[in-house]
Amino acid sequence: MSHPPAPEELSVYQNAEARFEVAARKLGLEEGLYRYLKHPSKEITLYIPVGMDNGQLEVFTGYRVLHSTVRGPGKGGIRFAPDVSLDEVRALATWMTWKCAVVNIPFGGAKGGIICDPRKMSKNELERLTRRYTAELADWLGPEKDVPAPDVGTNEQTMAWIMDTYSMHIHQATTAVVTGKPIELGGSRGRKEATGRGVLMCCNKALTKLGMRIAGCRVVVQGFGNVGSMAAKLMHEAGYKIVGLSDIAGGLYNEKGFDVPQVIDWVYIQKKPLQDFPGGGTKMSARDVLFQPCDIVIPAAIENQITEKNAHQVQARILCEGANGPTTSKADAIIDGKGIFIVPDILGNAGGVTVSYFEWVQDRQGFFWRESEVNERLQDVMDGSFDAVVRYAEMHKVNNRIAAYMLAIDRVAIALRLRGIYA
Ligand code: GLU
Repeated sequence: MSHPPAPEELSVYQNAEARFEVAARKLGLEEGLYRYLKHPSKEITLYIPVGMDNGQLEVFTGYRVLHSTVRGPGKGGIRFAPDVSLDEVRALATWMTWKCAVVNIPFGGAKGGIICDPRKMSKNELERLTRRYTAELADWLGPEKDVPAPDVGTNEQTMAWIMDTYSMHIHQATTAVVTGKPIELGGSRGRKEATGRGVLMCCNKALTKLGMRIAGCRVVVQGFGNVGSMAAKLMHEAGYKIVGLSDIAGGLYNEKGFDVPQVIDWVYIQKKPLQDFPGGGTKMSARDVLFQPCDIVIPAAIENQITEKNAHQVQARILCEGANGPTTSKADAIIDGKGIFIVPDILGNAGGVTVSYFEWVQDRQGFFWRESEVNERLQDVMDGSFDAVVRYAEMHKVNNRIAAYMLAIDRVAIALRLRGIYA
């Protein structure tokens, strides 16, 4: 997550801007549209009072940033974490605009965050915080306005509270105001696995592109939240060898490979620290797991993990980003110089928002799809988007990251020119 950057380091948003700038220039984007798309369209800061279980009144700071509604309603998760900042939420909102455009779903980009530590709060406190945040934002949210989803520190239950609070405010049960809900409440089958499944699909495509095989392919996954644990599980099932894992407390490397379902049971059912997994191999920091020998490295935790200081240590052939912004812009050239094939975040982790789109469609139709149908449609979107990005990269002689940005900016710019500027 974001931390106050050292003077020589770029903030999370500055990293997002740096790639936007390179891609927009390459694309020859008009100066006016460049200025338009560089800035978010709305930033809301909220001071949220919450009565805590101990009787004290606390005030939490929260944000919702709407970067763009050019191609459709704002879309993007809500993050609960101690080091959330406006800079970070702004970057994440911007990335949502490009992500939705890369996979060509009819949404703009938005993101929310609250500075809090959900691990230190009770369920009741989290419920009151979520409901008050939603109530304060009620005028700005809506299926046609801005549609939140889970992100770091939030889950299906958080989304259920948002759906209920919003519905009470407008006196209508409105499932499509939020995605990533429990299935019993208008959620989509396959949504929980979707980001991890999208990562798997991108890795499969990258292997084919590079003439590599799944059998014996060694994978390191940083992060064991929803994205990391699902990516590891699905890749393990698909025949990849998961040799490195980490959670917030630290990492493990074992060249023999992990039985991922057993690790999931250890961490999620038995609630034990990942690093204590029996026979887990070599212990190391959560960061160092990224630099272990492997064929594919999947950062699936937080921002700014691969930087210009450590990028030379990456040993993988493929870098597939499950997190948002795990690689800093200054590390890009080092990764390119090593000939590493990148699947950038706005493609690599787009499976989540793609199935969020399917959820929104199902809610609005009141008609729900089988899981196989969801996964098939997801495969179409991910395969098509992967091919489009790689084609763009080859055509314009840029890396896959800049290609993904160019493709996305071009799509948003086309819509913007058609709409024109309302004055
Ligand atoms: N938080 C996820 C992301 O960063 C999902 C967003 C969504 O489904 O709207 O892509």
